[in-house]
Formats: sequence, structure tokens, C-alpha cells
Amino acid sequence: MTLQEILIRRMRRDGALSVADFMGTALFHPEQGYYARRAPIGQAGDFTTAPEVHQMFGEMIAAWLVDYWFRSDRPDPFLLVELGPGRGTLMQDILRAAGGVAPSFTRAAEVWFVETSSGLRREQAVAVPAARFTDDLSAVPAGFSLVVANEFFDALPIHQYVKTGRHWRERTVTWDGPSSRFVFALAPHPSPVTVHLPNVADDGDIVEISPAAQAIAADLASRAATDGGTSLIIDYARDPREPCGTLQAVQSHRRVDPLGEPGAADLSARVDFQGLAATARAAGASVHGPRAQGAFLETVGIRERGRRLAAMQPATRDGIESALRRLTRPEGMGSRFQAMSIACPRGPDPAGFA
Ligand code: SAH
Repeated sequence: MTLQEILIRRMRRDGALSVADFMGTALFHPEQGYYARRAPIGQAGDFTTAPEVHQMFGEMIAAWLVDYWFRSDRPDPFLLVELGPGRGTLMQDILRAAGGVAPSFTRAAEVWFVETSSGLRREQAVAVPAARFTDDLSAVPAGFSLVVANEFFDALPIHQYVKTGRHWRERTVTWDGPSSRFVFALAPHPSPVTVHLPNVADDGDIVEISPAAQAIAADLASRAATDGGTSLIIDYARDPREPCGTLQAVQSHRRVDPLGEPGAADLSARVDFQGLAATARAAGASVHGPRAQGAFLETVGIRERGRRLAAMQPATRDGIESALRRLTRPEGMGSRFQAMSIACPRGPDPAGFA
């Protein structure tokens, strides 16, 4: 059965699906879901992430982590956790770069990958043979932990609510027989979560809520508050001034219809950093940022690193310049992507946010 058939069958049985249910099934169905079927990341895949642009990205994250670890009195052992490691490139760069400047850091690190896709797990195990795997952050043992999540939260399913008259109604997805395609619809009744949504909104405004993302932010916060440590979340940020839907689909580096061919395209939604920050604070952590990725990387030292690399290998100068532009400039990932840290309130202030 194709994913389309699976979804239609469920809709005939249960009625329209929430956007979150549609997104979750399209991405994570164990046989027909996007992450089970496709090799998503890189030139030959559907999208390219910052660690795949250039090794400097991972080197900056390594510097950030090592700095925090030193200023936390070098706990040994500690947990080095990555959520959704993709092809494993970021952790590979982190371990290589950290190993060069602080071998005691890499020796003390117990690496954990939180990953649901079995195909990506295989690639990650080759990139980082020492990694241990789990599909849920809550299964990572307790202890001082440093957690990295790059373009992870944007893959977590979102619910959408549309302002219609005096009420918010949940946006749904249903199968339109006559036109043979999936279409958006609205739940027939106002949503009971309405009381938590802003009441000053225009007709047609859309808010997005991700219970999965909120749960992980709460988990990161209580982990940091209880056992010490910090996390670094980097992602495509939702603009709170634009109350519109941000569900998008990408295939072969092009935007496509998010309802067009479930399972064949990557689905993502921009991340609500303000919502994650509020959840993390309520769970007892301190929050640093969000701050634009470009400003964050420059504060940590990416320009200096680029200059040094170019001086060592003059032939790579153009490639380094273009990677720097892509990672730090507003027309690249520099301002649409934001960085935020959820940290132990008794620990040091993480670098890069002042
Ligand atoms: N961080 C990587 C990959 C980003 S793609 C990079 O920057 O290149 C998103 C990753 O998150 C993939 O590895 C995907 O399989 C994983 N993922 C998505 N949702 C997940 C979930 N709920 N639990 C664990 N992993 C998840």
C-alpha cells in the first residue's frame, strides 16, 4: 500500500487528519514515510544543512561546546548528545575539531544519537562509530549533558489553528475525491485549545503549536537544571510578526506542494523559539538567545577560522568565502536561522549570545 492509500484509508475511517498527524505520518511512517524511503540530505538529496555546507560550522559548535565544558570544571564522563544527526557530519566535525584542541573533552564524552530513521542511523554509525543510539531523548541516561540539535525541531509535527470569526479552528487535511488530491479543511467545531491562543488576531491568521517540540524543550530544560549542562538549538525560525502557516515541502532543493505527494518530499515548519524558550524557563532552565545564526557564528569566531583555513590552503579561499556567505549572511542562512541555548541556571553563560 502506498502512503497515499494508507492516508486515504485512515481518513475514510476516522475523518480528516490534523496537520500534525498528516505531517508525522508523511515523515515517519516506518515503511512508507519520507525518512524511511529517502536519503534526504546533501546535493543528491532534497536539502542541504549547515554542517553539510562546510566543516567550519561544526568547528564553531565544537569550540562552543569545549568552552562551556571547560568553564563547567570539565565533568568526566559527560553525555554529548545530538538530536537528529542526519548523516553524522556535524558530530564527526565536532569530535575531530575538539580532539585537536582538547583531547580530554573527546575522551570524557559519551556520544548519544537520538534518531528514529534506520537508514540515517546506518550512515551515522559509519560517520561516528562510537555513538550509541536511542529514538527518544528520555532514554539517554541522566548526567551532565551537552546537547546539539541542528535542523531537528523543524521536522517535528505541528498543529495549525486558523482564526475564523470569534474562534480558532484546527486546520485539517482531507482527501478530495473529485480532484483526486489532498486538500486543507477546517475542523467543524472550535478547538478546545482556543483558550490558550491569542484573542487579538485577524480572520485567517494561523498559529502553529508543536506539542512534540514543547515536550523535548521541557526535557532539555529539566535535564540541564537537574544535572547541569546546556543545549544548542539551531533552526529556521518562525517570525512571530507573521501569523501565517509555515508548513513547507522541499524536494530536490525545490519547494513543492506540502500535500502533493506525501512521503516523497521533506516536510518542515519554522520553529517557534519564543514558545520553546517559555517552556524551557517554566521547567527551570535559563535561556540564552535566540540570536541570528550569522551573529552567533561570528561571535564564536567563524571569520577568524575562515581566514586561518584560507591561509593554510590558498586554493580553497573561494570555497571558504562562499561558505561563510551562506552560513552568516542574511541572504543565506544568517538571519532566518536562529541559535538558542537552554542551560543550567547555576552553570556558566554559554558563549555567543552576548
Ligand atoms: N542535524 C542534521 C539533520 C537534520 S534532518 C543536519 O544538520 O544535517 C532531521 C533529522 O532529525 C534527521 O536525522 C531525522 O531522521 C531526525 N528526526 C526527525 N524527527 C525525529 C524524532 N522525532 N526523533 C528522532 N529523530 C528525528
